[in-house]
Amino acid sequence: MVKAVYPGSFDPVTCGHVDIIRRAARVVDELIIGVLVNSAKQPMFSMDERCSMIEEAVKDISNVKVEAFEGLTVNFAKKHGASVIIRGLRAVTDFENEMQLAQTNHSIDNDIDTLFFTTSLEYAFLSSTIVKEIACYGSDITNLVPDNVAAKLKKKFKDNK
Ligand code: ADP
Repeated sequence: MVKAVYPGSFDPVTCGHVDIIRRAARVVDELIIGVLVNSAKQPMFSMDERCSMIEEAVKDISNVKVEAFEGLTVNFAKKHGASVIIRGLRAVTDFENEMQLAQTNHSIDNDIDTLFFTTSLEYAFLSSTIVKEIACYGSDITNLVPDNVAAKLKKKFKDNK
């Protein structure tokens, strides 16, 4: 039984994240998406909003669940009995930081390994930050985020005007 965690800010979840979730859920038995409480970042969406957007977007995948967490990813993984951390790699620019994170986590806990999925080409440029920027100027984001997230983003920017 292989359990994995997929940690991130998911502010908001994008089609790039969902692609990684779908592919990872096929190779592990159980996948827990960890939505990070990051005091250093001021997120656009609340923790509840971020979690429920992911839950809605992946509700058809039976072996995935979503949970908020704070602190070290390895502790979150241990709490769930997970031995694998899933991360996505978009470009060479992600590589250095991701490698450092993976090595740090492995040195904290030898039993935990990081499994990388390279992004599908159509999402290689995609990040939550880019999506928010495009949405802010009223451009079309329908192919970049799940439908429920697109609706939420549209509402957010309309309400803020
Ligand atoms: P963080 O704040 O930890 O970078 P993110 O929510 O931005 O969290 O991303 C979580 C994980 O998803 C990271 O491993 C990141 O590289 C990966 N990821 C983000 N966007 C994409 C994408 N478009 N394709 C594949 N992986 C992605």
